[in-house]
Amino acid sequence: MVRLNKGVGVEIQRGIKFRLYPTPEQAEALQTQGHAARAMWNLLHDWWTWGGRSRRPSLTLADKAIRQARKDIPWLAGLPAQAAQQVLRQYHRAWVNCWEGRAETPRFKSRVRSKMTVDLPQGRDLNITRLSGRWSIVKVPKVGVVRFRAHRPIPGKVTGARVVREANGWHIVLRAHWEQDDPAPHTGPTVGIDRGVVVPLALSDGTDYTHPQWSNPKQSERLVRLERQAARQRRSHKPGDSTSNRLKATYDKIHGLRARLTRRRADWQHKTTHTLASVYSLIGLEDLNIAGMVRSARGTAETPGEQVRQKAGLNRSIQGEAWHQLHTQLTYKTTERGGRVVVVPAPGTSQRCHMCGFVDARNRKSQAVFACTNPTCGWVGNADTNAAKNTHFAALQAAKPTAPGSGVAGRGALQPLGGALKRQPKRKATA
Ligand SMILES: [Zn+2]
Repeated sequence: MVRLNKGVGVEIQRGIKFRLYPTPEQAEALQTQGHAARAMWNLLHDWWTWGGRSRRPSLTLADKAIRQARKDIPWLAGLPAQAAQQVLRQYHRAWVNCWEGRAETPRFKSRVRSKMTVDLPQGRDLNITRLSGRWSIVKVPKVGVVRFRAHRPIPGKVTGARVVREANGWHIVLRAHWEQDDPAPHTGPTVGIDRGVVVPLALSDGTDYTHPQWSNPKQSERLVRLERQAARQRRSHKPGDSTSNRLKATYDKIHGLRARLTRRRADWQHKTTHTLASVYSLIGLEDLNIAGMVRSARGTAETPGEQVRQKAGLNRSIQGEAWHQLHTQLTYKTTERGGRVVVVPAPGTSQRCHMCGFVDARNRKSQAVFACTNPTCGWVGNADTNAAKNTHFAALQAAKPTAPGSGVAGRGALQPLGGALKRQPKRKATA
Protein backbone atom coordinates (compact mmCIF):
# COMPACT_ATOMS: atom_id res chain seq x y z
CA MET A 1 0.00 0.00 0.00
CA VAL A 2 1.23 3.45 -0.86
CA ARG A 3 -0.35 6.61 0.35
CA LEU A 4 0.66 9.97 -1.01
CA ASN A 5 1.26 12.48 1.69
CA LYS A 6 1.82 15.94 0.20
CA GLY A 7 5.08 17.60 1.16
CA VAL A 8 6.20 15.13 3.82
CA GLY A 9 7.03 12.29 1.49
CA VAL A 10 5.43 8.98 0.72
CA GLU A 11 3.98 6.89 3.52
CA ILE A 12 4.43 3.22 2.76
CA GLN A 13 2.82 0.19 4.34
CA ARG A 14 3.93 -3.21 3.17
CA GLY A 15 3.59 -6.82 4.20
CA ILE A 16 6.87 -8.74 4.24
CA LYS A 17 6.82 -12.50 4.53
CA PHE A 18 9.37 -14.57 6.43
CA ARG A 19 9.53 -18.28 6.99
CA LEU A 20 9.00 -19.33 10.61
CA TYR A 21 10.92 -22.20 12.20
CA PRO A 22 8.80 -23.21 15.21
CA THR A 23 9.75 -26.12 17.45
CA PRO A 24 7.35 -29.10 17.27
CA GLU A 25 5.56 -27.84 20.42
CA GLN A 26 5.29 -24.33 19.00
CA ALA A 27 3.96 -25.70 15.70
CA GLU A 28 1.34 -27.58 17.70
CA ALA A 29 0.35 -24.38 19.53
CA LEU A 30 0.14 -22.45 16.26
CA GLN A 31 -2.03 -25.20 14.81
CA THR A 32 -4.39 -24.99 17.82
CA GLN A 33 -4.67 -21.23 17.41
CA GLY A 34 -5.26 -21.56 13.68
CA HIS A 35 -8.09 -24.01 14.25
CA ALA A 36 -9.55 -21.83 17.01
CA ALA A 37 -9.52 -18.78 14.70
CA ARG A 38 -11.28 -20.78 12.01
CA ALA A 39 -13.83 -22.15 14.49
CA MET A 40 -14.45 -18.60 15.71
CA TRP A 41 -15.16 -17.50 12.15
CA ASN A 42 -17.57 -20.42 11.69
CA LEU A 43 -19.38 -19.68 14.96
CA LEU A 44 -19.77 -16.06 13.90
CA HIS A 45 -20.95 -17.14 10.48
CA ASP A 46 -23.59 -19.49 11.91
CA TRP A 47 -24.76 -16.87 14.30
CA TRP A 48 -24.81 -14.06 11.76
CA THR A 49 -26.64 -15.98 9.04
CA TRP A 50 -29.11 -17.71 11.34
CA GLY A 51 -32.59 -16.23 10.98
CA GLY A 52 -31.76 -14.45 7.74
CA ARG A 53 -31.35 -10.83 6.87
CA SER A 54 -33.80 -9.33 9.33
CA ARG A 55 -32.18 -10.77 12.45
CA ARG A 56 -28.53 -9.93 11.94
CA PRO A 57 -26.89 -9.18 15.30
CA SER A 58 -24.99 -5.94 15.83
CA LEU A 59 -21.21 -5.82 16.07
CA THR A 60 -21.37 -4.98 19.76
CA LEU A 61 -23.45 -8.09 20.35
CA ALA A 62 -21.05 -10.19 18.29
CA ASP A 63 -18.13 -8.81 20.27
CA LYS A 64 -19.87 -9.69 23.54
CA ALA A 65 -20.60 -13.20 22.28
CA ILE A 66 -16.94 -13.71 21.36
CA ARG A 67 -15.83 -12.72 24.86
CA GLN A 68 -18.34 -15.13 26.39
CA ALA A 69 -17.37 -17.97 24.05
CA ARG A 70 -13.71 -17.59 25.05
CA LYS A 71 -14.77 -18.04 28.69
CA ASP A 72 -17.07 -21.00 28.03
CA ILE A 73 -15.11 -23.04 25.49
CA PRO A 74 -11.61 -23.91 26.78
CA TRP A 75 -9.91 -24.50 23.42
CA LEU A 76 -11.19 -21.17 22.06
CA ALA A 77 -9.33 -19.46 24.91
CA GLY A 78 -6.09 -20.76 23.34
CA LEU A 79 -6.53 -17.97 20.80
CA PRO A 80 -5.22 -14.64 22.17
CA ALA A 81 -7.94 -12.04 22.78
CA GLN A 82 -6.48 -9.65 20.19
CA ALA A 83 -6.52 -12.37 17.54
CA ALA A 84 -10.14 -13.23 18.39
CA GLN A 85 -11.19 -9.59 17.99
CA GLN A 86 -9.39 -9.56 14.66
CA VAL A 87 -11.51 -12.50 13.45
CA LEU A 88 -14.63 -10.44 14.11
CA ARG A 89 -13.16 -7.43 12.31
CA GLN A 90 -12.25 -9.59 9.31
CA TYR A 91 -15.60 -11.29 9.22
CA HIS A 92 -17.30 -7.91 9.18
CA ARG A 93 -14.95 -6.63 6.48
CA ALA A 94 -15.72 -9.73 4.38
CA TRP A 95 -19.40 -8.73 4.44
CA VAL A 96 -18.63 -5.10 3.59
CA ASN A 97 -16.51 -6.30 0.65
CA CYS A 98 -19.42 -8.48 -0.45
CA TRP A 99 -22.00 -5.69 -0.14
CA GLU A 100 -19.78 -3.35 -2.13
CA GLY A 101 -19.35 -5.94 -4.88
CA ARG A 102 -15.66 -6.69 -4.39
CA ALA A 103 -16.03 -10.24 -3.09
CA GLU A 104 -18.31 -13.24 -2.87
CA THR A 105 -20.52 -13.92 0.16
CA PRO A 106 -18.47 -14.96 3.22
CA ARG A 107 -18.59 -18.70 3.70
CA PHE A 108 -18.09 -21.44 6.23
CA LYS A 109 -14.38 -22.31 6.51
CA SER A 110 -13.80 -26.01 6.11
CA ARG A 111 -11.14 -27.73 8.18
CA VAL A 112 -9.27 -29.24 5.24
CA ARG A 113 -9.77 -26.64 2.57
CA SER A 114 -9.10 -23.30 4.21
CA LYS A 115 -5.77 -21.66 4.95
CA MET A 116 -4.94 -21.29 8.62
CA THR A 117 -4.16 -17.76 9.75
CA VAL A 118 -3.76 -16.05 13.11
CA ASP A 119 -3.61 -12.27 13.37
CA LEU A 120 -1.23 -10.52 15.73
CA PRO A 121 -2.51 -6.95 15.51
CA GLN A 122 -0.20 -5.46 18.17
CA GLY A 123 3.19 -4.64 16.66
CA ARG A 124 4.80 -3.56 19.91
CA ASP A 125 4.29 -6.97 21.57
CA LEU A 126 6.21 -8.82 18.88
CA ASN A 127 9.68 -7.92 20.23
CA ILE A 128 11.51 -8.73 17.01
CA THR A 129 15.22 -9.23 17.69
CA ARG A 130 17.99 -10.03 15.30
CA LEU A 131 20.18 -12.93 16.45
CA SER A 132 22.60 -13.18 13.56
CA GLY A 133 22.86 -12.40 9.88
CA ARG A 134 20.46 -15.23 9.16
CA TRP A 135 18.20 -15.59 12.15
CA SER A 136 15.76 -13.38 14.02
CA ILE A 137 13.20 -14.11 16.71
CA VAL A 138 9.64 -12.93 17.22
CA LYS A 139 7.36 -13.30 20.24
CA VAL A 140 4.02 -14.87 19.29
CA PRO A 141 1.39 -14.60 22.06
CA LYS A 142 0.66 -17.94 23.78
CA VAL A 143 3.21 -19.70 21.57
CA GLY A 144 6.51 -18.23 22.71
CA VAL A 145 9.65 -16.94 21.03
CA VAL A 146 9.83 -18.34 17.51
CA ARG A 147 12.83 -18.22 15.16
CA PHE A 148 12.49 -16.98 11.60
CA ARG A 149 14.81 -16.73 8.63
CA ALA A 150 15.61 -13.04 8.16
CA HIS A 151 16.33 -13.24 4.44
CA ARG A 152 16.01 -9.46 4.09
CA PRO A 153 16.07 -6.44 6.39
CA ILE A 154 12.77 -5.16 7.78
CA PRO A 155 12.27 -1.57 6.67
CA GLY A 156 10.68 0.91 9.06
CA LYS A 157 8.44 0.06 11.99
CA VAL A 158 6.43 -3.14 12.41
CA THR A 159 2.81 -2.32 13.26
CA GLY A 160 1.36 -5.83 13.29
CA ALA A 161 1.66 -9.29 11.83
CA ARG A 162 -0.17 -12.34 10.65
CA VAL A 163 0.91 -15.96 10.96
CA VAL A 164 -0.04 -18.10 7.97
CA ARG A 165 0.15 -21.84 7.46
CA GLU A 166 1.19 -22.58 3.89
CA ALA A 167 1.80 -25.87 2.14
CA ASN A 168 5.52 -25.69 2.95
CA GLY A 169 5.18 -24.62 6.60
CA TRP A 170 4.43 -21.65 8.82
CA HIS A 171 5.21 -18.09 7.74
CA ILE A 172 4.88 -14.71 9.35
CA VAL A 173 3.83 -11.65 7.39
CA LEU A 174 5.10 -8.52 9.14
CA ARG A 175 3.20 -5.31 8.45
CA ALA A 176 5.96 -2.72 8.09
CA HIS A 177 5.34 0.98 7.95
CA TRP A 178 7.75 3.71 6.91
CA GLU A 179 8.05 7.09 5.30
CA GLN A 180 10.06 7.78 2.22
CA ASP A 181 11.14 11.07 0.66
CA ASP A 182 9.26 12.02 -2.45
CA PRO A 183 11.05 10.24 -5.28
CA ALA A 184 12.42 12.33 -8.14
CA PRO A 185 10.09 12.24 -11.15
CA HIS A 186 10.77 9.23 -13.34
CA THR A 187 12.28 10.26 -16.68
CA GLY A 188 11.85 6.97 -18.53
CA PRO A 189 9.63 6.40 -21.57
CA THR A 190 5.87 5.82 -21.35
CA VAL A 191 4.16 2.58 -22.34
CA GLY A 192 0.82 0.80 -22.65
CA ILE A 193 0.33 -2.83 -21.68
CA ASP A 194 -2.21 -5.32 -22.99
CA ARG A 195 -2.81 -8.28 -20.70
CA GLY A 196 -3.77 -11.50 -22.38
CA VAL A 197 -3.91 -15.22 -21.99
CA VAL A 198 -1.82 -16.21 -25.01
CA VAL A 199 0.73 -13.41 -24.59
CA PRO A 200 0.71 -12.54 -20.87
CA LEU A 201 1.97 -8.97 -21.34
CA ALA A 202 2.22 -7.21 -24.70
CA LEU A 203 3.81 -3.76 -24.63
CA SER A 204 3.04 -0.88 -26.96
CA ASP A 205 6.72 -0.68 -28.00
CA GLY A 206 6.38 -4.16 -29.50
CA THR A 207 8.07 -6.20 -26.76
CA ASP A 208 6.27 -9.14 -25.17
CA TYR A 209 6.76 -10.52 -21.68
CA THR A 210 6.08 -14.24 -21.64
CA HIS A 211 6.68 -17.08 -19.27
CA PRO A 212 6.66 -20.87 -19.60
CA GLN A 213 3.64 -22.83 -18.37
CA TRP A 214 3.64 -22.76 -14.57
CA SER A 215 3.43 -26.52 -14.47
CA ASN A 216 5.43 -28.90 -16.65
CA PRO A 217 3.54 -31.81 -18.28
CA LYS A 218 4.59 -34.20 -15.52
CA GLN A 219 3.26 -31.89 -12.81
CA SER A 220 -0.04 -31.31 -14.64
CA GLU A 221 -0.46 -35.05 -14.97
CA ARG A 222 0.29 -35.56 -11.27
CA LEU A 223 -2.23 -32.85 -10.34
CA VAL A 224 -4.98 -34.51 -12.39
CA ARG A 225 -4.16 -37.88 -10.83
CA LEU A 226 -4.28 -36.47 -7.30
CA GLU A 227 -7.58 -34.67 -7.95
CA ARG A 228 -9.10 -37.97 -9.16
CA GLN A 229 -7.72 -39.78 -6.13
CA ALA A 230 -9.26 -37.17 -3.81
CA ALA A 231 -12.62 -37.51 -5.58
CA ARG A 232 -12.50 -41.28 -5.16
CA GLN A 233 -11.63 -40.98 -1.48
CA ARG A 234 -14.43 -38.46 -0.98
CA ARG A 235 -16.96 -40.90 -2.45
CA SER A 236 -16.18 -43.52 0.19
CA HIS A 237 -16.70 -40.91 2.87
CA LYS A 238 -20.06 -41.03 4.68
CA PRO A 239 -21.75 -37.80 5.73
CA GLY A 240 -20.98 -37.02 9.35
CA ASP A 241 -17.69 -38.94 9.35
CA SER A 242 -14.53 -36.94 9.89
CA THR A 243 -12.24 -36.64 6.88
CA SER A 244 -10.03 -39.72 6.56
CA ASN A 245 -6.28 -39.40 7.04
CA ARG A 246 -5.75 -40.72 3.53
CA LEU A 247 -7.94 -37.98 2.06
CA LYS A 248 -6.15 -35.36 4.17
CA ALA A 249 -2.80 -36.64 2.90
CA THR A 250 -4.06 -36.35 -0.69
CA TYR A 251 -5.25 -32.80 -0.05
CA ASP A 252 -1.83 -31.95 1.41
CA LYS A 253 -0.13 -33.21 -1.74
CA ILE A 254 -2.51 -31.18 -3.95
CA HIS A 255 -1.94 -28.02 -1.86
CA GLY A 256 1.82 -28.58 -1.94
CA LEU A 257 1.91 -28.83 -5.72
CA ARG A 258 -0.44 -25.89 -6.25
CA ALA A 259 1.57 -23.75 -3.85
CA ARG A 260 4.73 -24.54 -5.77
CA LEU A 261 3.16 -23.32 -9.02
CA THR A 262 1.90 -20.19 -7.26
CA ARG A 263 5.40 -19.41 -5.96
CA ARG A 264 6.78 -19.82 -9.47
CA ARG A 265 4.21 -17.33 -10.78
CA ALA A 266 4.85 -14.86 -7.95
CA ASP A 267 8.57 -14.97 -8.70
CA TRP A 268 8.04 -14.17 -12.39
CA GLN A 269 5.54 -11.45 -11.55
CA HIS A 270 7.78 -9.69 -9.05
CA LYS A 271 10.76 -9.73 -11.41
CA THR A 272 8.67 -8.52 -14.36
CA THR A 273 6.93 -5.71 -12.48
CA HIS A 274 10.30 -4.65 -11.03
CA THR A 275 11.74 -4.31 -14.54
CA LEU A 276 8.68 -2.47 -15.89
CA ALA A 277 8.57 -0.04 -12.96
CA SER A 278 12.30 0.65 -13.31
CA VAL A 279 12.18 1.32 -17.05
CA TYR A 280 8.90 3.18 -17.63
CA SER A 281 7.68 6.44 -16.10
CA LEU A 282 4.04 5.94 -17.05
CA ILE A 283 2.32 2.62 -17.57
CA GLY A 284 -1.16 2.40 -19.10
CA LEU A 285 -3.30 -0.60 -18.19
CA GLU A 286 -6.77 -1.37 -19.48
CA ASP A 287 -9.48 -1.58 -16.83
CA LEU A 288 -10.43 -5.23 -16.75
CA ASN A 289 -13.40 -6.32 -14.71
CA ILE A 290 -11.60 -9.46 -13.61
CA ALA A 291 -14.17 -10.55 -11.03
CA GLY A 292 -16.90 -10.15 -13.67
CA MET A 293 -14.90 -12.01 -16.31
CA VAL A 294 -14.34 -14.94 -13.99
CA ARG A 295 -17.82 -15.03 -12.53
CA SER A 296 -19.60 -14.93 -15.88
CA ALA A 297 -18.81 -18.50 -16.85
CA ARG A 298 -21.16 -20.38 -14.57
CA GLY A 299 -23.94 -17.82 -14.78
CA THR A 300 -26.84 -17.97 -12.35
CA ALA A 301 -29.75 -20.38 -12.02
CA GLU A 302 -32.04 -18.02 -13.97
CA THR A 303 -29.49 -17.14 -16.65
CA PRO A 304 -27.12 -20.07 -17.06
CA GLY A 305 -23.85 -19.15 -18.73
CA GLU A 306 -23.11 -20.07 -22.32
CA GLN A 307 -20.08 -22.06 -23.36
CA VAL A 308 -19.45 -22.81 -19.71
CA ARG A 309 -16.62 -25.29 -20.33
CA GLN A 310 -14.66 -23.02 -22.65
CA LYS A 311 -15.09 -20.06 -20.36
CA ALA A 312 -14.11 -22.13 -17.35
CA GLY A 313 -10.85 -22.88 -19.15
CA LEU A 314 -10.31 -19.19 -19.85
CA ASN A 315 -11.06 -18.43 -16.21
CA ARG A 316 -8.37 -20.80 -15.08
CA SER A 317 -5.99 -18.95 -17.39
CA ILE A 318 -7.10 -15.55 -16.09
CA GLN A 319 -6.68 -16.66 -12.51
CA GLY A 320 -3.39 -18.31 -13.47
CA GLU A 321 -2.10 -14.92 -14.60
CA ALA A 322 -3.22 -13.18 -11.38
CA TRP A 323 -3.83 -9.87 -13.15
CA HIS A 324 -5.05 -8.13 -10.08
CA GLN A 325 -1.78 -8.83 -8.25
CA LEU A 326 0.15 -7.61 -11.25
CA HIS A 327 -1.74 -4.33 -11.11
CA THR A 328 -1.12 -3.94 -7.36
CA GLN A 329 2.59 -4.67 -7.69
CA LEU A 330 3.01 -2.31 -10.63
CA THR A 331 1.21 0.47 -8.75
CA TYR A 332 3.37 0.41 -5.64
CA LYS A 333 6.61 -0.21 -7.50
CA THR A 334 6.09 2.67 -9.95
CA THR A 335 4.99 5.07 -7.20
CA GLU A 336 8.16 4.35 -5.23
CA ARG A 337 10.24 5.20 -8.27
CA GLY A 338 8.42 8.40 -9.16
CA GLY A 339 6.40 6.85 -11.97
CA ARG A 340 2.71 6.05 -12.19
CA VAL A 341 0.11 3.58 -13.45
CA VAL A 342 -2.88 4.93 -15.36
CA VAL A 343 -5.92 2.70 -15.74
CA VAL A 344 -8.07 3.39 -18.80
CA PRO A 345 -11.42 1.92 -19.91
CA ALA A 346 -10.96 -1.29 -21.88
CA PRO A 347 -13.77 -1.23 -24.49
CA GLY A 348 -12.56 -1.10 -28.06
CA THR A 349 -8.83 -1.45 -27.40
CA SER A 350 -8.68 -4.71 -29.33
CA GLN A 351 -10.92 -3.63 -32.23
CA ARG A 352 -9.62 -0.10 -32.83
CA CYS A 353 -6.79 0.49 -35.26
CA HIS A 354 -4.13 2.52 -33.43
CA MET A 355 -3.03 4.23 -36.66
CA CYS A 356 -6.31 5.64 -37.96
CA GLY A 357 -8.71 5.07 -35.06
CA PHE A 358 -11.10 2.99 -37.15
CA VAL A 359 -13.17 0.61 -35.01
CA ASP A 360 -14.45 -2.59 -36.55
CA ALA A 361 -14.81 -6.14 -35.24
CA ARG A 362 -13.47 -7.42 -38.57
CA ASN A 363 -10.18 -5.61 -37.94
CA ARG A 364 -9.17 -8.48 -35.74
CA LYS A 365 -8.23 -11.21 -38.21
CA SER A 366 -7.18 -13.80 -35.62
CA GLN A 367 -5.84 -14.11 -32.11
CA ALA A 368 -2.51 -12.68 -33.24
CA VAL A 369 -3.11 -10.64 -36.40
CA PHE A 370 -4.73 -7.25 -36.70
CA ALA A 371 -5.45 -5.92 -40.19
CA CYS A 372 -7.19 -2.55 -40.50
CA THR A 373 -10.18 -2.74 -42.82
CA ASN A 374 -10.17 1.01 -43.41
CA PRO A 375 -9.18 1.22 -47.12
CA THR A 376 -7.12 4.40 -46.65
CA CYS A 377 -5.09 2.87 -43.82
CA GLY A 378 -4.70 -0.92 -44.08
CA TRP A 379 -2.23 -1.24 -41.20
CA VAL A 380 -1.36 -4.85 -40.50
CA GLY A 381 0.45 -6.04 -37.42
CA ASN A 382 0.37 -7.80 -34.11
CA ALA A 383 -3.07 -7.64 -32.50
CA ASP A 384 -1.80 -7.45 -28.91
CA THR A 385 0.69 -4.72 -29.74
CA ASN A 386 -2.12 -2.77 -31.42
CA ALA A 387 -4.28 -3.05 -28.30
CA ALA A 388 -1.33 -1.98 -26.13
CA LYS A 389 -0.76 1.08 -28.36
CA ASN A 390 -4.41 2.07 -27.91
CA THR A 391 -4.08 1.67 -24.16
CA HIS A 392 -0.86 3.72 -24.25
CA PHE A 393 -2.58 6.52 -26.16
CA ALA A 394 -5.61 6.54 -23.84
CA ALA A 395 -3.34 6.57 -20.78
CA LEU A 396 -1.37 9.55 -22.14
CA GLN A 397 -4.64 11.37 -22.77
CA ALA A 398 -5.89 10.63 -19.26
CA ALA A 399 -2.59 11.62 -17.63
CA LYS A 400 -2.22 14.86 -19.54
CA PRO A 401 -2.91 17.96 -17.46
CA THR A 402 -5.33 20.24 -19.28
CA ALA A 403 -2.90 23.08 -19.97
CA PRO A 404 -4.43 26.47 -20.75
CA GLY A 405 -4.18 27.45 -24.40
CA SER A 406 -3.55 23.92 -25.61
CA GLY A 407 -6.49 24.31 -27.94
CA VAL A 408 -8.80 21.41 -28.58
CA ALA A 409 -8.61 18.93 -25.72
CA GLY A 410 -6.38 16.01 -26.49
CA ARG A 411 -4.91 17.28 -29.76
CA GLY A 412 -1.51 18.01 -28.25
CA ALA A 413 -0.94 14.44 -27.25
CA LEU A 414 -1.59 13.08 -30.69
CA GLN A 415 1.95 13.60 -31.88
CA PRO A 416 4.10 11.21 -29.80
CA LEU A 417 2.52 8.15 -31.33
CA GLY A 418 2.86 9.42 -34.87
CA GLY A 419 0.15 9.44 -37.48
CA ALA A 420 -3.34 10.81 -37.35
CA LEU A 421 -4.87 9.14 -34.36
CA LYS A 422 -8.58 9.12 -33.72
CA ARG A 423 -9.32 10.81 -37.02
CA GLN A 424 -12.42 9.48 -38.73
CA PRO A 425 -11.60 7.19 -41.61
CA LYS A 426 -12.03 8.73 -45.03
CA ARG A 427 -14.81 6.88 -46.72
CA LYS A 428 -15.24 6.46 -50.43
CA ALA A 429 -17.82 8.79 -51.91
CA THR A 430 -19.96 5.89 -53.07
CA ALA A 431 -21.53 4.36 -50.01
ZN1 LIG B 1 -6.20 1.76 -39.57
